Formats: sequence, structure tokens, C-alpha cells
Amino acid sequence: MPMAIKMAAPASLAIEKIFGSVFERTLPVTRPHCIACLRPQGACICEWVTPVANEAEVLILQHPLEVDHAKNSARLLHLSLSRSRMLVGEAFGERELHDSFKGPRYTVLLYPQTPQDESPALDAVQLKDPSRVRLVVLDGTWRKSRKMLHLSPLLRLLPRLSLDDAPVSNYLIRKAHEPGQLSTLEATCAALAQLEGEGSAEKYQPLLKAFDGFVAQQLAFVPK
Ligand SMILES: [Zn+2]
Repeated sequence: MPMAIKMAAPASLAIEKIFGSVFERTLPVTRPHCIACLRPQGACICEWVTPVANEAEVLILQHPLEVDHAKNSARLLHLSLSRSRMLVGEAFGERELHDSFKGPRYTVLLYPQTPQDESPALDAVQLKDPSRVRLVVLDGTWRKSRKMLHLSPLLRLLPRLSLDDAPVSNYLIRKAHEPGQLSTLEATCAALAQLEGEGSAEKYQPLLKAFDGFVAQQLAFVPK
């Protein structure tokens, strides 16, 4: 049995995670991770990253339970968009969101209108210039995203943007999700194209195509 080298310091483990390590064989708990997508190297998604210059800024709020999810499309989205930020959490406090909402942008939440919501009406004039819009996206299942809204009052006060025509999801076809349910990546690309107007849908096609490859790769990992 090989002798394990003990490395108790968390900092060392963190460095090891980032750079890979000579201790790998004796410390099986620390699988090497890709430094770009932060996923285990065997499940690296970097080959699917497809740069696209989106005009509206995107702020992805990811539910913590989505982070290690194999079908996590949000990180691929985040790595591909030129204007994107990503925060992980379930409850977002006012201060945290205020810091994220800095700058002269009109902030809207990509979320359907619900009967008892307190959100103000969308200002169509402000939406006309997508370079001055910030799109907040919740990454989680329907149930998780509702909980995020419930726990984050400021998010409930944002005007809501919903998709005019929800595109047919390849993800949906393969995984038989609820009708109309898109992955975070698909929904965000559709919303960005909607904001940018006519002719912009094509711009997001290469990323959506790469997403198909990503989904196929993830399905290949699922034990038959
Ligand atoms: Zn990677």
C-alpha cells in the first residue's frame, strides 16, 4: 500500500486543485480540476466554450445545488458570453445585489410574470438600447428559482422580461423536461437575441450548437 502524504493545510489543497499535483496518486480525494471551467479534468467543458459578444450584460445567479450538476449549462454560458458575471447563492441580500447592479444599466429579471408578483411593469423605452440593459438570470430548477426569489426581496422588485417565443429546446427533446422549460443557456440566448432585435438570433447559433455537443457529452457520462 503506498504511503499517503498528509497535507492538512486547506491552502495547499486549494493550490493543488488549481495546479494539479505530484501528490495526486496518494491523495485520491483531490481530482485534478481544469483551471478554466473549474470542473474535473475528465469532464472539462472548455472545448464547447464559444465566445459571443452579447450587448446586454448578464448576471447569472446560480443556486448552490446547480454548481456540481453535470448538466450545468450556466458555466458554459458564463464562459462564452463577453459580458457576464456569475454569483452562487440561494439568498441574495440587498448590499450584494446593489453592488452587482452598479452602473447605468436598466436591470430586468428573466422570469415569467406570476399572479401575486410585486414587480413593476417593463419600460419599453429603456429596453431599446440593449447595451444599457442588465439581464439577471436565475440558474436552478423551477422550484429552486422560486425559492431564490422568495429569499431575495430585491429580485422580486425587478421588472420581469419573459420570452416572446420560447424556442424549441434540444435539451428538452433529449431529456423530456416540462413543456416550455429551457436550459439556462438556451433561455438566456433567446432573451439576449430578443433584446438585441432582428437578425441577432444568428449570433447565438454557434453557442447553441456547441451546447448540443455539451449535452451529448454529459449524456455520455450517464450510466446506461
Ligand atoms: Zn475546462
